[in-house]
Amino acid sequence: MTDPTIELARDLIRRPSVTPDDQGCQALIGGRIAPLGFAIESLRFAEVDNLWAVHGDRGPLFVFAGHTDVVPTGEAARWTYPPFGAEIHGGRLYGRGAADMKGSVAAFVTATERFLARQPEPAFRLGYLITSDEEGPAQHGTKRMMQWLREKGISIDWCLVGEPSSRNRLGDEFKIGRRGSITGNLVIEGRQGHVAYPHLADNPVHRAAPFLAELVAIEWDEGNAHFPPSTLQIANIQAGTGANNVIPGEMSVQFNLRFNTETSVEAIQARVEELLKRHGLAYRIDWHLSGVPFLTRDDGPMVGAVERAVEGVLGTAPTPSTAGGTSDGRFIAPTGAQVIELGPLNATIHQIDEHVAVEDLKTLSTIYERLLDELDAEARRLAG
Ligand SMILES: [Zn+2]
Repeated sequence: MTDPTIELARDLIRRPSVTPDDQGCQALIGGRIAPLGFAIESLRFAEVDNLWAVHGDRGPLFVFAGHTDVVPTGEAARWTYPPFGAEIHGGRLYGRGAADMKGSVAAFVTATERFLARQPEPAFRLGYLITSDEEGPAQHGTKRMMQWLREKGISIDWCLVGEPSSRNRLGDEFKIGRRGSITGNLVIEGRQGHVAYPHLADNPVHRAAPFLAELVAIEWDEGNAHFPPSTLQIANIQAGTGANNVIPGEMSVQFNLRFNTETSVEAIQARVEELLKRHGLAYRIDWHLSGVPFLTRDDGPMVGAVERAVEGVLGTAPTPSTAGGTSDGRFIAPTGAQVIELGPLNATIHQIDEHVAVEDLKTLSTIYERLLDELDAEARRLAG
């Protein structure tokens, strides 16, 4: 067992890099790619470590994007194998981050090593954008790095995010976009009082009930060829003092929308506020936008290059998808970059006993290497 991708993934998993503590993962990655001719920049914003690395100085800029941080293990005693032990059993590599996404990061590095050994002067620039805060607040990671790149006048043309995109077998799905996510924190105001004297109080729960019934029944849009319809879910409702004889003074409601490219932030906010006003409610509302939706169309080279790379290695082309939560692609795509996500199976991510198949990780590295060949051919075509 001396496969370089597996060994590097194990080295990374053994570092307990719970967000935002990188634990030397980025130094390990930088140490591997610097000898290949990459210029490395380590940038720390607040408590977050970020790595930017670039190879070459001509042609379109392609970037491998990923993160070294992992979510907490939960109760370590409940794991079959230690969460930071990186043990291999039955052909599976176990550990927090094995699938999300230290395995992919290791595959980036070994794919790069083999590609550059064969092709020392590619027709495109090859970059790395790695953060230690993807799983947390995500304010000083990729978001801040995109601002830094903009200040330096660097723009990314093509990007692969190594998030675990596969559903049932490696490479069956890849992401060509993601839905947006916005949260509304709403407070319906009333007047507290004794339940026996309701005429002296104003119950915000009673006032809100018909509003909420209408809110959850809204059809935001019908979706489109690439996205399912936008949806709203109420995540939290709170009201009441705990006593059975007190009418609550206010009620708080938290709801979240996952929305597609048919609906805008402004349209969502306007529709909710119009409904609040129509129901005559006294309210306060705060909105938190996590990310706007993005979609990478196949009018650029990335979609086709990823499809050919996967089909070339596995024999079948991957299915494009926009399902799932948000990712750091939401910060990269708005700059005009063509962003694709392709990585291992997502079945065990964030769970106890997170793991990845050893063979899948080796194959993923081969797919990434093939992608670099496809992009090199594309860059040569573009250069004429
Ligand atoms: Zn991830």
